[in-house]
Amino acid sequence: MTGHEDRLRSWVGRELVARRAGQDPVNVPMIRHWVEAMQDANPVYLDEDAARASGRAGIVAPASMVQAWTMRGYAATVTPDGTPSGFDELVAMLAEGGYTSVVATDSELEFHRELVPGDHVSVEERLESISAEKRTGLGTGRFVTTIKTYRDASGEVVATQRWRTLRFRPAERRAPRPRPALNPDNAFWFEAAREHRLVIQRCADCKSLRHPPGPCCPQCGSFDWDSVEASGAGHVHTYVVSHHPRHPAFDHPLVVAVIELAEGTRLIANMTGVAPADVAIGMPVVLEWIDPDPDLSLPAFRPAGPKKDA
Ligand SMILES: [Zn+2]
Repeated sequence: MTGHEDRLRSWVGRELVARRAGQDPVNVPMIRHWVEAMQDANPVYLDEDAARASGRAGIVAPASMVQAWTMRGYAATVTPDGTPSGFDELVAMLAEGGYTSVVATDSELEFHRELVPGDHVSVEERLESISAEKRTGLGTGRFVTTIKTYRDASGEVVATQRWRTLRFRPAERRAPRPRPALNPDNAFWFEAAREHRLVIQRCADCKSLRHPPGPCCPQCGSFDWDSVEASGAGHVHTYVVSHHPRHPAFDHPLVVAVIELAEGTRLIANMTGVAPADVAIGMPVVLEWIDPDPDLSLPAFRPAGPKKDA
């Protein structure tokens, strides 16, 4: 175990938030707002006669309001009240381990008795457990489970709440690669690329090849065309290494090359399997496909010869 893990574990069982009374006792106006917001028409919450008819002594608060009675209000969230709580210290320690994001995963409430107007509820919170590090879809993190204990004015437990959150390091998400601007003239080329076929547009009349795709043959002016599949062999005609500005969809420094295909046309593509410093004009290259997204495949080129990891 690491020192950080030991320190986290040492918190298990400790009090995170000392017992604190709610600002107001259980009261009818707050119950009324709650049931209106929740559209809960159960009459035992507001109608004394209906509550008595149900066997109760009078109206009761909805059980799920228990947390509401101890909420501190908006002001407390923007004006910290001095000393940090154990909870604040624990959150800081988790952040030290890189677990800077949080998502609530589940909450289990247990109710011991119904609350009635006049009850004054307090709450305390302690740490029940911290899991080992887990990999999740959101990122790697730890499940942190706390227990909130709700008590009435005499200290009797009225409810408990087991509250589990995942504190995690956000997974790095690569930004999506910029989309090509598709139009009726170039769509065939990108559709072929999705099938990992590098095609070259060919004039149906004079048979000259051209790239990038266009509606009209620059040699003879014909609008008729078909395409041929490239062998994938070529060489670096020229290139640049882009250091800045950085785009989150790409690794930098980024080699952007003009590749001259064996068939004679040129295209712009990234290079793979080669350090930017090792790229050279004239370098023989071969086609390799990259699939940045399920719906986007693009040709890239690596130096010809045995494949090396770079
Ligand atoms: Zn032509």
